[in-house]
Amino acid sequence: MSRIVLCIVLCSFLLSPCLLAAKEVKSRYVTLRYSSQELLTDFNEEIELGRNLKANARKTDIVTVEDEVLAKIDAIIEKAETILEMFPDQLHMKIVLLEKSADVAKVFNEKYGKNADHIAFYSLSEDTIYISVNDARLAVLAHEIGHAIVDHYFKVRPPYNVHELMAQFVEKRISD
Ligand SMILES: [Zn+2]
Repeated sequence: MSRIVLCIVLCSFLLSPCLLAAKEVKSRYVTLRYSSQELLTDFNEEIELGRNLKANARKTDIVTVEDEVLAKIDAIIEKAETILEMFPDQLHMKIVLLEKSADVAKVFNEKYGKNADHIAFYSLSEDTIYISVNDARLAVLAHEIGHAIVDHYFKVRPPYNVHELMAQFVEKRISD
């Protein structure tokens, strides 16, 4: 009986989306996890930068899709810092790519025991953004990055509504 229970625990552990995300790449500001090259390519196509952001992302050498995605994310993070006028020391966050919103909802439910139809969320305790690649857009990613920057910047965490307002501010201005 205990062996069966252990097997169930192990199986659900192995099937958890973050552990399926086997590949990991790092840039200055981010550690990005994803389960397949296809998912990364889809994500790259979904995240379309405006002219200014594109120019900033092109400053680095881009050879692979990984390079391009990381350059884009770093450019978005730097722009978000400028929008918020918050430049926390040693800023680094994790981003986990999941295929669809149902996967994001599953992770959210596992962590918080609540049902929610988020297409992305930022886990304060893990300093990690979970995002659905099917629903990924610049504004969505920028919003969650806004949460991460605010979280790193304040020693005392601002009230939830203020946190949310600042993330929305980044979301609105990221394409300017
Ligand atoms: Zn938010």
